[in-house]
Amino acid sequence: MKHDYDVVVVGGGLAGLTAAIHLSLEGVSVLVLEKNTYPHHKVCGEYVSNEVLPYLQKLGVSLQGAGAPAISKFQLSQVNGKVLEAELPLGGFGVSRYAFDELLYKRALEVGVEIQFEKVTGILFKESSFEVVISNGEKFTSRVVLGAYGKRSTLDKKLNRDFITEKSAWVAVKNHYKWDVFPDDVVALHNFHGGYGGLSKTESGEVNFCYMAHYHSFQKFRKVEDFNEQIIAKNKFLKVFLQEAEPVFEQPLTIAQISFRPKKAVEDHVLMIGDTAGLIHPLCGNGMAMAIHSAKIASELVVPYLKSGQENRSRLEKNYQQEWKRAFKTRLYWGRQLQRILLRPALSNSIMSLVGKSPKLLKATIAATHGKPLL
Ligand SMILES: Cc1cc2nc3c(=O)[nH]c(=O)nc-3n(C[C@H](O)[C@H](O)[C@H](O)COP(=O)(O)OP(=O)(O)OC[C@H]3O[C@@H](n4cnc5c(N)ncnc54)[C@H](O)[C@@H]3O)c2cc1C
Repeated sequence: MKHDYDVVVVGGGLAGLTAAIHLSLEGVSVLVLEKNTYPHHKVCGEYVSNEVLPYLQKLGVSLQGAGAPAISKFQLSQVNGKVLEAELPLGGFGVSRYAFDELLYKRALEVGVEIQFEKVTGILFKESSFEVVISNGEKFTSRVVLGAYGKRSTLDKKLNRDFITEKSAWVAVKNHYKWDVFPDDVVALHNFHGGYGGLSKTESGEVNFCYMAHYHSFQKFRKVEDFNEQIIAKNKFLKVFLQEAEPVFEQPLTIAQISFRPKKAVEDHVLMIGDTAGLIHPLCGNGMAMAIHSAKIASELVVPYLKSGQENRSRLEKNYQQEWKRAFKTRLYWGRQLQRILLRPALSNSIMSLVGKSPKLLKATIAATHGKPLL
């Protein structure tokens, strides 16, 4: 079995698989190490911004082909019943992570990416190359490692990353529901005390309901159902949804310790992509597009680096950090501001009234957290 590659990608989510496809199409030998098999469900709002469509098409991945409904309308509601509706400037698609990650996985295999279902336990940089260790002790070597292992991992502890020592107070819950009356072309964001939840349809026709809640508000309830009934159902839209819709999964998926702290895009020579480099607040509906975009930025720098014959690692790392900041720093800033506003009822009510009167202002607000179409 081969053990030496140009690039090892740690984690085969959206960022890792996108980078692997891109690099393999450029003739780079790539190994992806992913701890779970495909397909599997993940906690995510499952609304993908259209900004990544042209790039995905270039890589040979079609969300329309997977039956994902096109979304062009946005609805926002407050606990007091105030609603704002608008056309989305760019729009997007509703696709489950179950389908999306598998679509990329199949494309990766088609273009020659090697994928092994193993948990990575260590990444060691030794002079000019890496040694990547998996749970059975086996080792792989490569010239470049892309860290694409998501929001939080024991690998972050091993790399001594700053954010990992701090507790984060956010939890997220997701389930799919049967609820035919929900329109195909809408993504809705509904506010409740201590959090917010998104509703949108996926390729299966099921509605994804995914919410984020502050742990302080969540911890008082012993069961998700109790939290839904006593906190979430105070929003009249979500009350109707929870009364009428039929859950598909027996148990909802949950995650905790979601950190929005700034991270470094390069750690111990590993180029971090996707959530491993930084996570935008989910209310922006743009984390997946950012994960894919960061994979593109890294791949476009890694290809000439590997092909140059005169590898200048410090220049590669510096360029990646700069490009990453240029693409995402402002978006992350606006994501943080919007989240602050949304979680303060009085402030968000007055801002909603203002934005409701001006479609231009709403467009500008959405644009501040989104990018331009990626070519
Ligand atoms: C509540 C919530 C709602 C969201 N809603 C939306 C939305 O509607 N739209 C949107 O665009 N974004 C949304 N996001 C953001 C989006 O989910 C992420 O930005 C996106 O999943 C990032 O992809 P990724 O590839 O970086 O990470 P992931 O998809 O998490 O992939 C990481 C992969 O690495 C693997 N892995 C981890 N550790 C190891 C290891 N040690 N060895 C091997 N493999 C490993 C994991 O199994 C996983 O497959 C939301 C996020 C949250 C928290």
